[in-house]
Amino acid sequence: MAYKITDDCISCGACEPSCPNQAISEGKTVYDVNPDKCTECVGSFASPRCVEVCPVDCCVPDPDHRESRETLLARWKTLHPGETPKVT
Ligand code: SF4
Ligand code: SF4
Repeated sequence: MAYKITDDCISCGACEPSCPNQAISEGKTVYDVNPDKCTECVGSFASPRCVEVCPVDCCVPDPDHRESRETLLARWKTLHPGETPKVT
């Protein structure tokens, strides 16, 4: 499932460059995750990078976007044409 950013976000910006899919951007009040680009870091890393870098632990799984690993990997391949997944 895609991750989301809660209202606890302090807009430090650390997560934006850490996302391998450019899924994170600055929103009106807090940073946002684009669920069409988030793969839970499947394809790139063993665990979600945004979770690791966030100083206030506000990157959490979004229960409204539950997806299988196969779906997430297929998304990664669409976002990174011609590349080989580093983590499947
Ligand atoms: S889980 Fe990974 S792909 Fe999803 S928003 Fe966080 S860093 Fe980006
Ligand atoms: S790292 Fe955490 S606090 Fe900083 S902008 Fe991203 S979600 Fe917000």
